[in-house]
Amino acid sequence: MYYESTRGGLKSVSSAEAIKRGIAPDGGLFVPENKVSFTGSEISAMADMSYQERALYILKHYLTDYSDEEIADCVYNAYTDEKFDDKRIAPLVQLNENVNILELWHGPTCAFKDMALQILPHFLVKAVRKTGETGEIVILVATSGDTGKAALEGFKDVEGTRIIVFYPQDGVSQVQKMQMVTQEGKNVYTIGVEGNFDDAQSGVKAIFTDEELKQKMDKGNFKFSSANSINWGRLVPQIVYYFSAYADMLKNGEIKEGDKINFVVPTGNFGNILAAFYAMQMGLPVNRLICASNDNNVLTDFINTGVYDKNREFKRTISPSMDILISSNLERLLFELTGHDPLPVNNWMSSLKETGKYTVDNTMKKKISEIFWGGYSNEAETLKTIEAIYKEYGYVIDTHTAVGVDVYDKYVISTGDVTKTVIASTASPFKFNESVVKAVLGNEALKGRTEFELLEVLAKECRLKIPEGLKDLDKKPVLHKQVCSKFDMKQQVESILGL
Ligand SMILES: *Cc1c(COP(=O)(O)O)cnc(C)c1O
Repeated sequence: MYYESTRGGLKSVSSAEAIKRGIAPDGGLFVPENKVSFTGSEISAMADMSYQERALYILKHYLTDYSDEEIADCVYNAYTDEKFDDKRIAPLVQLNENVNILELWHGPTCAFKDMALQILPHFLVKAVRKTGETGEIVILVATSGDTGKAALEGFKDVEGTRIIVFYPQDGVSQVQKMQMVTQEGKNVYTIGVEGNFDDAQSGVKAIFTDEELKQKMDKGNFKFSSANSINWGRLVPQIVYYFSAYADMLKNGEIKEGDKINFVVPTGNFGNILAAFYAMQMGLPVNRLICASNDNNVLTDFINTGVYDKNREFKRTISPSMDILISSNLERLLFELTGHDPLPVNNWMSSLKETGKYTVDNTMKKKISEIFWGGYSNEAETLKTIEAIYKEYGYVIDTHTAVGVDVYDKYVISTGDVTKTVIASTASPFKFNESVVKAVLGNEALKGRTEFELLEVLAKECRLKIPEGLKDLDKKPVLHKQVCSKFDMKQQVESILGL
């Protein structure tokens, strides 16, 4: 399998090369040149496999320049009992007859990013060797909160790599911030940016394509790579859990071979739901992909109107990992749906850059709305959903997952569709405990308590255990105190690398 850039500037790139580079030199994203297809019986065969076996079964079709042994090495080092607190890795929990919740947060940082970021460093270290790279790999990350910590955990002390994480200083929760600024490891740097996530992401993108810096990097024998969801090595492991959820439903007898299901995905950068789209293209029987947004509902509008317009107020919400106005991975979807034509993609992307806006034609709009349904949940609705689900099922969900559940309800009301549905649960309720406690116990319960004290409150009320990764966070020493303006990010990188 070879990879090409969505902007047409590069083709015939091996998976190791694509993973090492992260982003294509023309600013585009790498996508597989060909489709991978699974038959119904190949999918059914996954029912009796472990998560790790399912991962191996899928990944080897995309990482064809890795040996089976190498992929197995990556898989079995990433999805371990030590790192994940559930043996099933991505367990499926039945909420009611029609709805399953796919819990993607059993990894070390309690959000779905671990599913990819626990395995990406293994892919990357092997990619470096395979491509004959001699330089040190510098991982640059812009994070809306969860990616940063997950990447730091994944890359800490990984030989031949350094990781620099930029997070919006006032745009992440207390727990998220403490997770990042207390990060241990010899090769890790965490820096707060005065701005929002889009500022951090634009800053990182600019650094990647900065010619002057590239020359300095070459001289210093450093090479940038990305752990953001623009890296194919992050996207491909996410395909696995959509097949895994389907295989579990087959195994439980909830569906039979060939039955279609819906997936609901709380969406920000469009990475998670794009993996579901790839799964569908590979033959996974999907009826609809439901794209759930919060008040930053650019994607809802895009799906419904064909106009992508980021010229709007950026809202800080209680589901901060979805507070995004530029969903980078959408570019991959557009490229796929044009049948791999870089021309329109370049036009849309330059229009986005210049005017903050682009409009797709009616054919494209129709294709998108046949596959996707878009909706959003506002702050009050999100909180109400957490309360309602807890009252009805005794099951606690976090704010991001609640956006998904609420949008699913709206989908059912709007379409009457009763197809069995899997809702991706993207974070542990403990990670966004302030809002969850507020939803379940009311405002009074928050008074005079820090997020760290609220962990205990939530554990007691819901009879759940506080995940290891979040316990005693407030007692750990702060190791990273750096803050910079959005204009100084390049300088920060240069100073860390001594350029
Ligand atoms: C990152 C994240 C999302 C959004 O995922 P995308 O791949 O960016 O669309 C949703 N929920 C949580 C908890 C996240 O960390």
